[in-house]
Amino acid sequence: MGSVVISLDAELGWGFHDLADPPTERVEAGRRGWSVMLELFEEFDIPATWAVVGHLMLDDCDGVHADHPAPNGWFDRERTDWADRDDLRYAPDLVTDLRQSDADHEFASHSFSHALFGRPETDREFAVAELERSREIAADWNESIDSFVYPRNDIGHREVLAEQGVSAYRGRSPTRDGVRGIFDSTIRDRSMLVEPAVDEYGLVNVPASMFLFGFEGPARTVAESIWTDPMVELARSGIDEAARTDGLFHMWLHPNNLTHERDDRRMRAILSHLERRRTATDLTVETMGDVARRVSGSSPVTEQATASWK
Ligand SMILES: [Zn+2]
Ligand SMILES: [Zn+2]
Repeated sequence: MGSVVISLDAELGWGFHDLADPPTERVEAGRRGWSVMLELFEEFDIPATWAVVGHLMLDDCDGVHADHPAPNGWFDRERTDWADRDDLRYAPDLVTDLRQSDADHEFASHSFSHALFGRPETDREFAVAELERSREIAADWNESIDSFVYPRNDIGHREVLAEQGVSAYRGRSPTRDGVRGIFDSTIRDRSMLVEPAVDEYGLVNVPASMFLFGFEGPARTVAESIWTDPMVELARSGIDEAARTDGLFHMWLHPNNLTHERDDRRMRAILSHLERRRTATDLTVETMGDVARRVSGSSPVTEQATASWK
C-alpha cells in the first residue's frame, strides 16, 4: 500500500527575516497562500503536515527576546523594517484556522524563529532554546511537537530534537530541485519515491521527494506555454508511482510559494489528482507523524528515554 505525504513550511515573514533583501512577492504572499492551501486541503479532504514557526503563535512580543540565546541582531527586523508589520510576525488567526480545519492536519514545528540548525553560529544552546520555546507555545495551544521541518532544510543538532521528544524530521530529497530534478525524473526515469528510516538518534527521517516550486521564472512560463505545468506532471507521476507500489512520495512547499493564481491552479491540479488516485486505488495520504509511527512501530524516543532510566 503506497502513500503520499505533503508537508508545508508555514512561516510568513520568518522565512526571510534574516535576509538582507527579502523577496517582496514571496513575503507578501504568505497569508493568502496559507488560506488558499487550507481551502484546497478541505475541498479534497487531504491532511498535511504543517510545520509552523512558533513565533507566529504569539499575540505580541518585545522585539528583543533578550532571554533567547540567538545570534546578535537575529530579531532586528522586528524592530526596524517590520516594526509595523504584525501581519508578518504573528498569525494566531491563521494557526487557529489550521487547527479548526476539517482536514485532519498534523501540527508540526518549523522552529521558534526560523533558526538555521546546520550553521556554525547556531550553537547547541540556541538550538535547544528554539525547540523549548516552540514546545512551550505549542503547549499553550494544547498541541505537542512530534514532527519537525528544518528551516531551509538545514539539518543539524538532531540530538536536540531527540532530547526534546520530536519523533520525525523531513530529510533532504534524493532528487535535485528544479530543472535538474525534472531532467532526472523524466529523462532518466529515476524514481521519486523515498524510504523513511530511523536514524542513529532514534528519529524517523521522512525524506522529501520533491519541492513543488523548484521550477519558476521565465523557464516555467515557456514550459507552460508548450506543455502542461511540468511540476503537475511530475507530481502526478510521483503519486501514480506510489499508488502502483508500496512506496512513499513526499511533496513539500511553502504557502508563500503561491504568489499567483497559476500557483493555486498547480496545487488544485495536484490535489485533485491525488484525491482521484486515493479513491481508485489503495493509496493513502499520511502525515509525517503517521509515517513515523508506522516506521518505528512505537515511539523510538520513548524507548530511548525508557532505556536511559534503567
Ligand atoms: Zn518577536
Ligand atoms: Zn522555512
